[in-house]
Amino acid sequence: MAHAAKKQFAVIGLGRFGSSIATSLSNMGFDVLAIDSDEHRVQELSNVVTHAVSADSTEEEALRALGIRNFDVVVVAIGEDIQASILTTLILKDMGGPLIVVKAQNELHGKVLKKIGADKVVYPERDMGLRVAHHLISPNILDYIEISDEYSIVEHTVTKAMVGKNLKELEIRAKFGCNVMAIKRGSKMNISPDASERLTEDDILVIVGERNDLTKLELYYAPQPVRN
Ligand code: ATP
Repeated sequence: MAHAAKKQFAVIGLGRFGSSIATSLSNMGFDVLAIDSDEHRVQELSNVVTHAVSADSTEEEALRALGIRNFDVVVVAIGEDIQASILTTLILKDMGGPLIVVKAQNELHGKVLKKIGADKVVYPERDMGLRVAHHLISPNILDYIEISDEYSIVEHTVTKAMVGKNLKELEIRAKFGCNVMAIKRGSKMNISPDASERLTEDDILVIVGERNDLTKLELYYAPQPVRN
């Protein structure tokens, strides 16, 4: 019986981010080729991923010899050496083939990567910083995801003030201009919540809105900080 071929991934740069991606993909059962110019980093992953090799990704021949063109996705997770990150992306783009995902150190680096044809640019430090910051201003925020320059999605716990109320009574749309897209209840997810649905203590609200509006909502429901 024919079934879809398993996706093949290559990860270049095995710092904390790159090795975490390589390990996660491998644990999910995917074939992963892990590449780093530092032999020690390669060694550390050699028992985890399908193949781990030492190579300099700024050398086109080295990438060709590894058959990188035949992979479905290549993640460039070179951090500090921005020049190496850009050069590697350029070489991969020129070769054609895989989807190219690149980690950017900052906005300018990200802009350059997009310009030269990276298919996806990710900012792990910035995104994690954002999440932690939102969790700090309100412990009710379990997750925070930017979906565009203006809009974000938050996962918000049901606070004491919300328990037993329904969405109509909370007036989240009227007060903050945000929309409750879904209610998570245990392992179930209600993706078209009814306005009369009563909220329980363990529910989680998935809310979409403009960033400033979401921050207002977060602060409105955030408990006052406790001072000693
Ligand atoms: P993290 O924050 O994810 O730990 P980082 O931003 O500190 O990463 P670096 O440690 O600078 O990133 O780079 C990640 C890895 O990329 C390093 O292990 C480094 O050896 C590797 N690397 C850098 N340049 C190249 C290159 N030209 N070819 C292959 N690997 C490279």
